[in-house]
Amino acid sequence: MLNCDLSSLDEKHICPHCEQELACCNAPPFHIGDGLGWGSEFMFICLNDKCSLYVNGWKHIEEQFGHISSYRYMLLPGEKKGTPMMVGSSDAFKGCEVDPEAVKSQNERYKREKEAIAQLDTCIEQQNLQPILTLILDEAAEKAARKRACEILCKVNDLSCVDPIRNHEFNDCSIEQLANLSISKLLSENFKKECPYCAEIIKSQAKICRHCDNEL
Ligand SMILES: [Zn+2]
Ligand SMILES: [Zn+2]
Repeated sequence: MLNCDLSSLDEKHICPHCEQELACCNAPPFHIGDGLGWGSEFMFICLNDKCSLYVNGWKHIEEQFGHISSYRYMLLPGEKKGTPMMVGSSDAFKGCEVDPEAVKSQNERYKREKEAIAQLDTCIEQQNLQPILTLILDEAAEKAARKRACEILCKVNDLSCVDPIRNHEFNDCSIEQLANLSISKLLSENFKKECPYCAEIIKSQAKICRHCDNEL
């Protein structure tokens, strides 16, 4: 995923047998014919069950080879001309369709995570909250990196981390607990607390909240 060329996801190809647009699918991990890799993460396949290549393929293969298979028109990214690929059932490759936008956004998320992890070592001295927040708020990021981000959160003395973390819905409650712990520490080190009524950050000695006027 990391090193593959995602520009191939934008390619549009038309099946010469049925004029329908080819579906973008994940390539299987190995080449069915010869055991070699496909050389691509993705492939384009005509999944149209009314495609003449597919409809006529059953009879052709049975006559030629005596077994039950047909062909789908298949093309690798960057190619102009595809080839017939043997399939054993109409379902083959149907579960492998990829949503190009989803793949791209997953890839973006992954890149942001890796960048944030690389910045963790220097973010304390640079007082840079961003990579820490990125990891704490990214439920798909590595757990170890998120834990570490929680640990160093209070060392980057920046109270602007409170709202985004408080407003985040955590799936991983162990990370939520660590983040909350770090926020408590950060607030008390700054002689602050959160108003229990309006959640604004106020002085820890305050008797009346200056935001909502409630008595504390
Ligand atoms: Zn077709
Ligand atoms: Zn208040």
